[in-house]
Amino acid sequence: MMENRRLYSPKQIKEVLDKYGFTFSKSLGQNFLIDGNIVRKIAQGANITKDSYVLEIGPGMGTLTEELAINAKKVVAVELDRKLLPILDETLEGYDNVEVVYGDILKIDLKQLIDEKFDGGPIKVVANLPYYVTTPIIGKLLEEGLNIESLTVMVQKEVADRMMAKPGSKNYGSLSVFVNFYSNPQIVVKVPNTVFMPKPKVDSAVIKLELKDNLPDIDRAQFFKVVKAAFSKRRKTIINALSTFGFDVDKDTIRNALENSGIKAEERAENISVEDFIKLSTELPPLNI
Ligand code: SAM
Repeated sequence: MMENRRLYSPKQIKEVLDKYGFTFSKSLGQNFLIDGNIVRKIAQGANITKDSYVLEIGPGMGTLTEELAINAKKVVAVELDRKLLPILDETLEGYDNVEVVYGDILKIDLKQLIDEKFDGGPIKVVANLPYYVTTPIIGKLLEEGLNIESLTVMVQKEVADRMMAKPGSKNYGSLSVFVNFYSNPQIVVKVPNTVFMPKPKVDSAVIKLELKDNLPDIDRAQFFKVVKAAFSKRRKTIINALSTFGFDVDKDTIRNALENSGIKAEERAENISVEDFIKLSTELPPLNI
Protein backbone atom coordinates (compact mmCIF):
# COMPACT_ATOMS: atom_id res chain seq x y z
CA MET A 1 0.00 0.00 0.00
CA MET A 2 1.25 3.50 -0.72
CA GLU A 3 2.55 5.56 2.21
CA ASN A 4 -0.35 7.95 2.14
CA ARG A 5 -3.36 5.96 1.07
CA ARG A 6 -5.48 8.90 0.00
CA LEU A 7 -4.82 9.60 -3.63
CA TYR A 8 -6.48 12.86 -4.27
CA SER A 9 -3.73 15.40 -3.83
CA PRO A 10 -2.73 16.64 -7.28
CA LYS A 11 0.92 16.29 -6.28
CA GLN A 12 0.49 12.64 -5.40
CA ILE A 13 -1.49 11.93 -8.55
CA LYS A 14 1.25 13.57 -10.66
CA GLU A 15 3.86 11.42 -8.94
CA VAL A 16 2.03 8.22 -9.80
CA LEU A 17 1.39 9.37 -13.37
CA ASP A 18 5.04 10.37 -13.87
CA LYS A 19 6.29 7.09 -12.44
CA TYR A 20 4.27 5.14 -15.02
CA GLY A 21 4.63 7.65 -17.86
CA PHE A 22 0.85 7.86 -18.09
CA THR A 23 -0.79 10.55 -20.21
CA PHE A 24 -4.50 11.36 -20.14
CA SER A 25 -6.62 10.21 -23.04
CA LYS A 26 -9.23 12.73 -24.06
CA SER A 27 -11.03 10.18 -26.22
CA LEU A 28 -11.54 7.90 -23.18
CA GLY A 29 -13.03 10.79 -21.19
CA GLN A 30 -10.20 10.78 -18.66
CA ASN A 31 -10.71 13.58 -16.17
CA PHE A 32 -9.52 12.34 -12.79
CA LEU A 33 -10.81 13.63 -9.46
CA ILE A 34 -8.35 15.63 -7.37
CA ASP A 35 -10.68 16.75 -4.56
CA GLY A 36 -11.13 14.56 -1.51
CA ASN A 37 -14.32 16.33 -0.50
CA ILE A 38 -16.06 15.40 -3.72
CA VAL A 39 -14.77 11.84 -3.55
CA ARG A 40 -16.25 11.47 -0.05
CA LYS A 41 -19.53 13.12 -1.08
CA ILE A 42 -19.96 10.63 -3.93
CA ALA A 43 -19.50 7.64 -1.60
CA GLN A 44 -21.78 9.19 1.03
CA GLY A 45 -24.40 10.11 -1.57
CA ALA A 46 -24.38 6.50 -2.80
CA ASN A 47 -24.94 5.40 0.82
CA ILE A 48 -22.07 2.92 0.72
CA THR A 49 -21.86 0.82 3.88
CA LYS A 50 -20.07 -2.35 4.93
CA ASP A 51 -22.97 -4.34 3.42
CA SER A 52 -22.67 -2.74 -0.02
CA TYR A 53 -21.64 -4.45 -3.22
CA VAL A 54 -20.31 -1.74 -5.52
CA LEU A 55 -19.67 -1.73 -9.24
CA GLU A 56 -17.45 1.16 -10.27
CA ILE A 57 -17.15 2.17 -13.92
CA GLY A 58 -13.80 3.63 -14.97
CA PRO A 59 -11.66 3.65 -11.82
CA GLY A 60 -8.91 5.72 -13.51
CA MET A 61 -6.02 5.58 -11.08
CA GLY A 62 -8.23 4.47 -8.21
CA THR A 63 -9.03 7.67 -6.34
CA LEU A 64 -12.76 7.01 -5.91
CA THR A 65 -12.18 3.25 -5.85
CA GLU A 66 -10.11 3.61 -2.70
CA GLU A 67 -12.85 5.56 -0.91
CA LEU A 68 -15.38 2.93 -1.98
CA ALA A 69 -13.11 0.09 -0.83
CA ILE A 70 -12.77 1.67 2.60
CA ASN A 71 -16.55 1.87 3.01
CA ALA A 72 -17.98 -1.09 1.08
CA LYS A 73 -18.08 -4.84 1.44
CA LYS A 74 -16.77 -5.44 -2.07
CA VAL A 75 -15.88 -3.30 -5.08
CA VAL A 76 -15.49 -4.43 -8.67
CA ALA A 77 -14.10 -1.73 -10.96
CA VAL A 78 -14.30 -2.05 -14.75
CA GLU A 79 -11.60 -0.13 -16.65
CA LEU A 80 -11.08 0.06 -20.40
CA ASP A 81 -7.60 1.58 -20.47
CA ARG A 82 -5.00 -1.19 -20.08
CA LYS A 83 -2.32 1.38 -19.24
CA LEU A 84 -4.10 2.03 -15.94
CA LEU A 85 -3.98 -1.59 -14.77
CA PRO A 86 -0.42 -1.56 -13.33
CA ILE A 87 -1.16 1.79 -11.70
CA LEU A 88 -4.30 0.39 -10.08
CA ASP A 89 -2.30 -2.63 -8.90
CA GLU A 90 -0.14 -0.24 -6.95
CA THR A 91 -2.69 2.29 -5.75
CA LEU A 92 -5.16 -0.34 -4.55
CA GLU A 93 -2.59 -2.73 -3.14
CA GLY A 94 -3.65 -3.79 0.32
CA TYR A 95 -7.39 -3.56 -0.30
CA ASP A 96 -8.46 -7.18 -0.51
CA ASN A 97 -12.11 -6.31 -1.19
CA VAL A 98 -11.36 -4.71 -4.59
CA GLU A 99 -11.12 -6.37 -7.96
CA VAL A 100 -10.26 -4.56 -11.18
CA VAL A 101 -11.74 -6.03 -14.34
CA TYR A 102 -10.36 -5.00 -17.71
CA GLY A 103 -13.07 -4.31 -20.28
CA ASP A 104 -15.59 -2.03 -21.92
CA ILE A 105 -18.59 -1.51 -19.67
CA LEU A 106 -20.81 -1.32 -22.76
CA LYS A 107 -19.74 -4.77 -23.91
CA ILE A 108 -19.46 -6.68 -20.64
CA ASP A 109 -22.24 -9.10 -19.70
CA LEU A 110 -23.33 -7.35 -16.52
CA LYS A 111 -25.86 -9.99 -15.48
CA GLN A 112 -23.05 -12.54 -15.46
CA LEU A 113 -20.68 -10.16 -13.66
CA ILE A 114 -23.27 -9.48 -10.93
CA ASP A 115 -23.93 -13.21 -10.55
CA GLU A 116 -20.26 -14.15 -10.42
CA LYS A 117 -18.74 -11.32 -8.43
CA PHE A 118 -21.65 -10.21 -6.25
CA ASP A 119 -23.66 -13.37 -5.66
CA GLY A 120 -26.47 -11.97 -7.80
CA GLY A 121 -26.61 -8.58 -6.04
CA PRO A 122 -28.25 -6.23 -5.32
CA ILE A 123 -25.48 -3.82 -6.21
CA LYS A 124 -24.86 -0.09 -6.22
CA VAL A 125 -23.20 1.48 -9.24
CA VAL A 126 -20.87 4.38 -8.57
CA ALA A 127 -18.84 6.25 -11.17
CA ASN A 128 -17.23 9.40 -12.35
CA LEU A 129 -18.40 8.58 -15.85
CA PRO A 130 -16.48 9.05 -19.09
CA TYR A 131 -18.75 11.71 -20.60
CA TYR A 132 -18.51 10.52 -24.20
CA VAL A 133 -20.59 7.46 -23.27
CA THR A 134 -22.81 8.74 -20.44
CA THR A 135 -26.13 8.06 -22.14
CA PRO A 136 -25.37 4.57 -23.50
CA ILE A 137 -23.97 3.50 -20.12
CA ILE A 138 -26.99 4.76 -18.19
CA GLY A 139 -29.27 3.27 -20.85
CA LYS A 140 -27.67 -0.14 -20.47
CA LEU A 141 -27.76 -0.06 -16.66
CA LEU A 142 -31.43 0.93 -16.53
CA GLU A 143 -32.80 -1.18 -19.38
CA GLU A 144 -31.28 -4.59 -18.81
CA GLY A 145 -33.37 -5.50 -15.76
CA LEU A 146 -30.23 -5.97 -13.64
CA ASN A 147 -30.28 -6.33 -9.87
CA ILE A 148 -29.19 -2.72 -9.26
CA GLU A 149 -30.43 -0.57 -6.36
CA SER A 150 -29.02 2.75 -7.45
CA LEU A 151 -26.65 4.57 -9.76
CA THR A 152 -24.65 7.43 -8.27
CA VAL A 153 -22.77 9.01 -11.11
CA MET A 154 -20.88 12.13 -12.07
CA VAL A 155 -22.26 13.55 -15.32
CA GLN A 156 -22.14 16.85 -17.19
CA LYS A 157 -24.33 19.36 -15.39
CA GLU A 158 -26.55 19.89 -18.40
CA VAL A 159 -27.16 16.13 -18.65
CA ALA A 160 -28.10 16.08 -14.94
CA ASP A 161 -30.48 19.00 -15.58
CA ARG A 162 -32.15 17.05 -18.39
CA MET A 163 -32.53 13.96 -16.20
CA MET A 164 -34.08 16.01 -13.39
CA ALA A 165 -36.37 18.10 -15.62
CA LYS A 166 -40.11 18.09 -15.00
CA PRO A 167 -42.83 18.56 -17.64
CA GLY A 168 -43.18 22.19 -18.66
CA SER A 169 -39.48 23.04 -18.37
CA LYS A 170 -37.20 23.65 -21.32
CA ASN A 171 -34.87 20.78 -20.35
CA TYR A 172 -37.68 18.21 -20.29
CA GLY A 173 -37.20 15.69 -23.09
CA SER A 174 -36.89 12.01 -23.94
CA LEU A 175 -33.93 11.57 -21.54
CA SER A 176 -36.07 12.94 -18.67
CA VAL A 177 -38.89 10.53 -19.54
CA PHE A 178 -36.48 7.60 -19.90
CA VAL A 179 -34.72 8.21 -16.58
CA ASN A 180 -37.94 8.95 -14.67
CA PHE A 181 -39.61 5.84 -16.09
CA TYR A 182 -36.94 3.63 -14.53
CA SER A 183 -35.86 5.62 -11.48
CA ASN A 184 -36.28 8.48 -9.04
CA PRO A 185 -33.43 10.91 -9.69
CA GLN A 186 -31.93 13.39 -7.23
CA ILE A 187 -28.90 15.68 -7.34
CA VAL A 188 -26.24 14.75 -4.78
CA VAL A 189 -23.89 17.68 -5.40
CA LYS A 190 -23.01 20.17 -8.11
CA VAL A 191 -19.36 20.10 -9.06
CA PRO A 192 -17.16 22.82 -10.59
CA ASN A 193 -14.63 21.85 -13.25
CA THR A 194 -11.72 22.71 -10.91
CA VAL A 195 -11.95 19.35 -9.08
CA PHE A 196 -10.67 17.40 -12.10
CA MET A 197 -7.30 16.86 -13.73
CA PRO A 198 -7.24 17.78 -16.55
CA LYS A 199 -10.08 20.31 -16.19
CA PRO A 200 -13.04 19.55 -18.49
CA LYS A 201 -14.69 22.48 -20.27
CA VAL A 202 -18.08 21.83 -18.67
CA ASP A 203 -19.40 21.86 -15.11
CA SER A 204 -20.64 18.62 -13.63
CA ALA A 205 -23.05 17.19 -11.09
CA VAL A 206 -23.34 13.96 -9.18
CA ILE A 207 -26.78 12.49 -9.70
CA LYS A 208 -28.30 9.54 -7.88
CA LEU A 209 -30.89 7.39 -9.64
CA GLU A 210 -32.78 5.11 -7.25
CA LEU A 211 -34.22 2.35 -9.39
CA LYS A 212 -37.95 1.73 -9.06
CA ASP A 213 -38.94 -1.69 -7.74
CA ASN A 214 -42.07 -2.08 -9.78
CA LEU A 215 -42.17 -0.88 -13.33
CA PRO A 216 -45.49 -0.56 -15.16
CA ASP A 217 -46.36 -3.72 -17.05
CA ILE A 218 -46.36 -2.24 -20.56
CA ASP A 219 -44.73 -2.79 -23.94
CA ARG A 220 -41.61 -0.68 -23.35
CA ALA A 221 -40.50 -0.66 -26.97
CA GLN A 222 -43.90 0.81 -27.90
CA PHE A 223 -43.66 3.36 -25.06
CA PHE A 224 -40.22 4.60 -26.13
CA LYS A 225 -41.31 4.80 -29.78
CA VAL A 226 -44.11 7.16 -28.75
CA VAL A 227 -41.75 9.26 -26.61
CA LYS A 228 -39.14 9.45 -29.37
CA ALA A 229 -41.70 10.47 -31.96
CA ALA A 230 -43.28 13.04 -29.64
CA PHE A 231 -39.97 14.78 -28.92
CA SER A 232 -38.67 14.50 -32.49
CA LYS A 233 -40.65 17.66 -33.18
CA ARG A 234 -41.05 19.23 -29.79
CA ARG A 235 -42.35 22.53 -31.16
CA LYS A 236 -45.24 20.77 -32.89
CA THR A 237 -48.48 19.69 -31.28
CA ILE A 238 -48.47 16.06 -30.15
CA ILE A 239 -51.02 15.10 -32.79
CA ASN A 240 -48.85 16.53 -35.57
CA ALA A 241 -45.63 15.10 -34.20
CA LEU A 242 -47.12 11.59 -33.99
CA SER A 243 -49.05 11.68 -37.26
CA THR A 244 -46.06 12.85 -39.33
CA PHE A 245 -43.44 10.56 -37.78
CA GLY A 246 -44.06 7.71 -40.22
CA PHE A 247 -46.07 5.30 -38.09
CA ASP A 248 -48.59 3.27 -40.05
CA VAL A 249 -51.48 4.76 -38.07
CA ASP A 250 -53.97 7.38 -39.28
CA LYS A 251 -54.54 10.72 -37.63
CA ASP A 252 -58.02 9.86 -36.33
CA THR A 253 -56.72 6.78 -34.51
CA ILE A 254 -54.04 8.95 -32.91
CA ARG A 255 -56.65 11.57 -32.00
CA ASN A 256 -58.78 8.90 -30.31
CA ALA A 257 -55.83 7.47 -28.42
CA LEU A 258 -54.93 10.96 -27.19
CA GLU A 259 -58.51 11.60 -26.09
CA ASN A 260 -58.69 8.24 -24.28
CA SER A 261 -55.43 9.11 -22.49
CA GLY A 262 -56.77 12.50 -21.39
CA ILE A 263 -54.16 14.37 -23.47
CA LYS A 264 -55.21 17.38 -25.58
CA ALA A 265 -54.37 16.92 -29.28
CA GLU A 266 -52.82 20.43 -29.27
CA GLU A 267 -50.56 19.71 -26.31
CA ARG A 268 -46.77 19.72 -26.83
CA ALA A 269 -44.52 16.83 -25.81
CA GLU A 270 -42.67 19.03 -23.33
CA ASN A 271 -45.87 19.32 -21.24
CA ILE A 272 -46.77 15.62 -21.16
CA SER A 273 -45.95 13.64 -18.02
CA VAL A 274 -44.35 10.18 -17.95
CA GLU A 275 -47.67 8.72 -16.70
CA ASP A 276 -49.57 10.25 -19.61
CA PHE A 277 -47.00 8.93 -22.13
CA ILE A 278 -47.45 5.48 -20.57
CA LYS A 279 -51.23 5.72 -20.95
CA LEU A 280 -50.93 6.96 -24.52
CA SER A 281 -48.62 4.08 -25.49
CA THR A 282 -51.23 1.57 -24.30
CA GLU A 283 -54.07 3.35 -26.13
CA LEU A 284 -52.27 3.41 -29.49
CA PRO A 285 -52.27 0.33 -31.72
CA PRO A 286 -48.89 -1.48 -32.10
CA LEU A 287 -46.53 0.95 -33.87
CA ASN A 288 -44.60 -0.40 -36.83
CA ILE A 289 -41.30 1.49 -36.56
N1 SAM B 1 -12.79 7.25 -11.44
C1 SAM B 1 -11.63 8.05 -11.84
C2 SAM B 1 -11.65 9.35 -11.09
O1 SAM B 1 -12.75 9.76 -10.69
O2 SAM B 1 -10.60 9.96 -10.92
C3 SAM B 1 -11.57 8.27 -13.35
C4 SAM B 1 -12.81 8.86 -13.98
S1 SAM B 1 -12.61 9.31 -15.67
C5 SAM B 1 -13.84 10.58 -15.81
C6 SAM B 1 -13.40 7.99 -16.60
C7 SAM B 1 -12.69 6.63 -16.58
O3 SAM B 1 -13.46 5.70 -17.37
C8 SAM B 1 -11.30 6.62 -17.17
O4 SAM B 1 -10.44 5.90 -16.35
C9 SAM B 1 -11.46 5.89 -18.53
O5 SAM B 1 -10.30 5.22 -18.96
C10 SAM B 1 -12.59 4.93 -18.19
N2 SAM B 1 -13.40 4.48 -19.36
C11 SAM B 1 -13.66 5.16 -20.50
N3 SAM B 1 -14.50 4.46 -21.30
C12 SAM B 1 -14.78 3.31 -20.62
C13 SAM B 1 -15.58 2.16 -20.94
N4 SAM B 1 -16.28 2.10 -22.09
N5 SAM B 1 -15.64 1.14 -20.06
C14 SAM B 1 -14.93 1.22 -18.87
N6 SAM B 1 -14.18 2.29 -18.52
C15 SAM B 1 -14.08 3.31 -19.38
